[in-house]
Amino acid sequence: MQKGRRTKSRHGKKGRFHWPLLLVGAVVLISIPKAWQMGSEWIAVQNAIREASAVEEPAEDFRPDVGEPPYTIAVDAGHGGDDPGATGIVVEKDMTAQTAEDLMEWLRADPNYIPVTTRESYDTTATPMERAEASNHQHPDLLLSIHGNSAAAEASGFECYPITPGRVWHRESVYFARLLASGMEAAGSTLRGQNGIRYIYYENGEKVLAEANDLRVREEETFTLLEESNCPAVLAEQCFVTSAADVDRFGDQDGCALTAQVYYQAICSYFGTQPVEAPAA
Ligand SMILES: [Zn+2]
Repeated sequence: MQKGRRTKSRHGKKGRFHWPLLLVGAVVLISIPKAWQMGSEWIAVQNAIREASAVEEPAEDFRPDVGEPPYTIAVDAGHGGDDPGATGIVVEKDMTAQTAEDLMEWLRADPNYIPVTTRESYDTTATPMERAEASNHQHPDLLLSIHGNSAAAEASGFECYPITPGRVWHRESVYFARLLASGMEAAGSTLRGQNGIRYIYYENGEKVLAEANDLRVREEETFTLLEESNCPAVLAEQCFVTSAADVDRFGDQDGCALTAQVYYQAICSYFGTQPVEAPAA
């Protein structure tokens, strides 16, 4: 822009001195280095802002703006129908359905919450996109997707995936993820990664894992359900279905009930409500 303007003022009428034009030209010439410097400073400032936003971690005193109850909670039981998920000591779809139903009972007992699901029934087969659309259609305030982990080698513990850095609901999702992880730790689970929170990205069809402190804003998408969700959302891997010790504590019938209670209390902490004493009968 500056260069264009200078060229124009220099090429006025030829052959005659125009003192006012000459004066303007001189002023413009003098100001070019200054403008150039300001331009590069501006670029530096913009870069600094971009870098700062890429590493901005939710402050410890951050609290989501939750508004007034009742709050609609989308409970997504992972897999189901024709999709069993991982198979180990238990089948993932059975564990997620059991945990989701137990969580629904807690939420049904609490007038602060309206629980909704992402499928017609636990036997319905649905893609992540269909689940996201079903959830968004019901305008939830929070979404929890329940899954189980699996590994060929010995592995155990809890981890969960919030909406990724740079996305609209990132901070709220991390806030919820922290409550879930600390609740599971208090219940006796070990936390994987950095305090049980990780990010997943799909790079050329491959799942790439990033730890919680890797807050770079990436173009790669995370789980479709999280990517498409119109509210804060977390996908939780409550335990390894391939670990006998994990299933015993968090994956069998009692384990699902315990995990559902942890999830319910994390939801209450997120919205700042007093938990009820017992789930609906
Ligand atoms: Zn799963």
